[in-house]
Amino acid sequence: MLKGKTAVVTGSTSGIGKGVAEALADAGANVVLNGFGPLEEIETLRTDLQRRSGARAIYDGADLSHSDQVRAMMARALDQFGSIDVLVNNAGIQHVAPIEDFPIEKWNAILAINLSSAFHTIACALPGMKKKRWGRIINIASAHALVASPFKSAYVAAKHGIAGLTKTVALEAAEHGITANAICPGYVWTPLVEKQVPDTASARGMSEREVIETVLLHAQPTKAFVEVEQVAAFAAFLASDRGASITGSILPIDGGWTAQ
Ligand code: NAD
Repeated sequence: MLKGKTAVVTGSTSGIGKGVAEALADAGANVVLNGFGPLEEIETLRTDLQRRSGARAIYDGADLSHSDQVRAMMARALDQFGSIDVLVNNAGIQHVAPIEDFPIEKWNAILAINLSSAFHTIACALPGMKKKRWGRIINIASAHALVASPFKSAYVAAKHGIAGLTKTVALEAAEHGITANAICPGYVWTPLVEKQVPDTASARGMSEREVIETVLLHAQPTKAFVEVEQVAAFAAFLASDRGASITGSILPIDGGWTAQ
């Protein structure tokens, strides 16, 4: 399905990004991995992707909070593979605190990683996609691109921002065979969610169990976490030729959260 194509997946050493990288490798794509983590584990993941795809996988450790590193990563990917056909902007961080106590450096980091890095990767990928008249841009946004929750000001602002960026890029690229969409997962049990449970507990004066049951799963009528594999399969569909008419869409996969 994606044989001969190359995918860059930011933040793909963990959680949703890792699942998306695996799904795109299963479809035959070369993959550029990015994100942090123990190098041995990343190397195991990289070789596994090559086995799954029969194509190449490389790792780029760019820190996406720095625009120059984002753009350098994209230049290296283009240099290695000649094109970037599928771009998945997935890297993201979270911080939970009331707005009056929200640390400025956390605000800046969340905006840089969750929003600005996608502006830079898209700007670097679009010229080559336009030349090939084929491209897929998939931004992993969040249900928080559509609705807010208290104590997540930077995250909600960044995710609403990426929804706007997605729509704008879709319009600019529509006549070039390029689609741009945002996938908006509800809660998926990954390290990002696990790490915010203690802070949410203290911001809301609750136990950690109460946070899981009455804050996280309460948001989702299904009362179940969304699974990484479900988000990954959705992304792989959008990346396929069958996804050609879906563009500019802000697509929830949230167990009914935003239907309420
Ligand atoms: P995760 O913590 O498991 O993975 C985050 C990835 O981003 C990791 O690979 C990490 O190394 C990478 N990363 C973080 N900072 C980086 C930086 N400065 N430079 C490069 N890479 C960096 O989290 P996840 O839950 O898989 O989240 C992935 C995306 O999905 C995020 O954008 C998140 O907002 C979004 N999302 C997650 C959920 C959820 O419930 N888990 C729900 C909706 C949206």
